[in-house]
Amino acid sequence: MQPRDLSALSPYVPGRGAEEVARELGMDPADLTKLSSNENPHGPGPAAVEAIRETAPRVGVYPKASHTDLAEKLADHWDCTPGQVWVTPGADGALDYLSRAFLDPGDRVLVPDPGFSYYRMSARYHHGEVATYDLRKADDFAQTPDTVLDAYDGERIVYLTTPHNPTGSEFDPDDIEALSERVEDHTLVVVDEAYAEYTDTPSAIGLLDDHDDVAVTRTFSKAYGLAGLRVGYAVVPEAWAGAYARVNTPFAASEVGCRAALAALDDDDHLETTVETARWARAHLRDELDAPTWESGGNFVLAEVGDAAAVAEATQRRGVIVRDCSSFGLPACIRVSCGTREGTRRAVEVVNDALAEVQA
Ligand SMILES: *Cc1c(COP(=O)(O)O)cnc(C)c1O
Repeated sequence: MQPRDLSALSPYVPGRGAEEVARELGMDPADLTKLSSNENPHGPGPAAVEAIRETAPRVGVYPKASHTDLAEKLADHWDCTPGQVWVTPGADGALDYLSRAFLDPGDRVLVPDPGFSYYRMSARYHHGEVATYDLRKADDFAQTPDTVLDAYDGERIVYLTTPHNPTGSEFDPDDIEALSERVEDHTLVVVDEAYAEYTDTPSAIGLLDDHDDVAVTRTFSKAYGLAGLRVGYAVVPEAWAGAYARVNTPFAASEVGCRAALAALDDDDHLETTVETARWARAHLRDELDAPTWESGGNFVLAEVGDAAAVAEATQRRGVIVRDCSSFGLPACIRVSCGTREGTRRAVEVVNDALAEVQA
């Protein structure tokens, strides 16, 4: 017996984990600095950790009130109705829910190249097809309506990432609005704001009042430090918010995840520290790395190093894990996540040593 033909599907390539690399190198994972997955180097905040502890004895029952509370709190924050907040298992879950709600078999989505691989994976899981628009290195990966429209051909969903992973470039909300007005009526523009907490650029959620063809995805995995819990959400226009009930996997966001997310939303100090550290680290990486880098609105910096696989390997040998961007289609670039001040300083030294070794 065999599953259906899965040859068109490709596995997700995550940043390498500290334990995995430590085992391979015979090192203690505690001695590794992992800057390959854009996680929060401070981890979760104390309020979230306390909520996780308090929830432990109550995980014997299905999550219900916590999910309602989280949707209501987020609706309050974004000044929309609770029905417009689709709480999902990670932002990846939100991408799946939008695929489920929008794609008929054979429908096409338009995704950025380079870009986040799950857009195309989710479309293919839902029997959709994939086309790409290019973000060009020669233009510093600039994102404008024309970069998308040059490739646009009536796709059902257009994905934007801002700040963009892995380049850090941003899409101005006015330009997103212009794009949404220039695409055909049946095209949904999905704005992935996984890293929006790290930039001052306003959220595209403000566009939802006047546009029923824009949806925004957000996550608790990055700035809120809850990647291990898998909580994200989409904010969608009121006109079709009710589709959630028809595409939601029952109880997909866990009790622990929802409670931790609720607590994290009240922990302004932790978010502030996180963003402040990332801004410092972003500047430090750009100032000190011996390689060309790009301006970034996220908690990471893209650097052009020549042979990314060799540099990432040499860096890893020295105890710092960075992301080789070959799987993003950028074999000359690495992406370095913002660490703590100590971790970021160490990363700069180690990457510069690795560069010297590889380029020697
Ligand atoms: C990390 C990331 C996500 C989603 O992460 P989840 O952990 O599933 O919430 C979505 N989009 C981009 C571009 C990301 O980098």
